[in-house]
Amino acid sequence: MIEENYRRVLANIAAATERRKDRGDETGPVTLVAVTKNHDVSAMRECIDAGAAVVGENRVQEAKGKYETLERSVTWHLIGHLQTNKVNQAVAMFDLIHSIDSEHLLTAVDTAARKIGKVQDILIQVNLAREPQKYGVADEELEAVLKKADELPNVHLRGLMLIAPNYEDVEETRPLFRQMRELYLRVQAMSLPASDIEYLSMGMTNDYAIAVEEGANLVRVGTGIFGPRQY
Ligand SMILES: *Cc1c(COP(=O)(O)O)cnc(C)c1O
Repeated sequence: MIEENYRRVLANIAAATERRKDRGDETGPVTLVAVTKNHDVSAMRECIDAGAAVVGENRVQEAKGKYETLERSVTWHLIGHLQTNKVNQAVAMFDLIHSIDSEHLLTAVDTAARKIGKVQDILIQVNLAREPQKYGVADEELEAVLKKADELPNVHLRGLMLIAPNYEDVEETRPLFRQMRELYLRVQAMSLPASDIEYLSMGMTNDYAIAVEEGANLVRVGTGIFGPRQY
């Protein structure tokens, strides 16, 4: 079941990529992050054996247990909000942190990475829809946070991340994805000397096809691969 779902998601991504190309938009390949939160190690193995190379977790504690048990070589992405007291553990484990949502957290990650001699790949999470209950850097603070990330020696800025609101009609998400893509291009145009802006992380089970059509190249899919989560 997981293998079948995984293949279907990949096929949907490929189809969406073709639609994007038809519009003349060459954004390059799309990476699927298999969101394994609330799914156990055996489900993770199934997905990795089906071909998944990147897994996404949203809690450091949960990820740590799996990280220590999973005898598969895979790339680990942190996609959920990171608390300052979990930064050391997160930096020890994750290849890419999508969820840098404040300057304070950015500095804490840099410090933690320096302690272990690592340069931590990061994305800046943007709160584009200005949802008060959502994490993310607001538009008007973004430039300062990006510049700071570019200056800090132990973080490597790789792009932007968005968690879109859960609209009833998924098409309502499209303008937001489009806006996010414009923002991403503006950030690339800043030519930050120490950064490599090449990832735009947006799209989940409900809306990843639209996200890819609008320029996402990292999509985070959980339910579409593993089925509903049991809490
Ligand atoms: C849980 C989660 C996802 C995956 O959600 P699905 O709807 O199950 O695909 C993607 N991104 C983030 C940040 C998440 O927390």
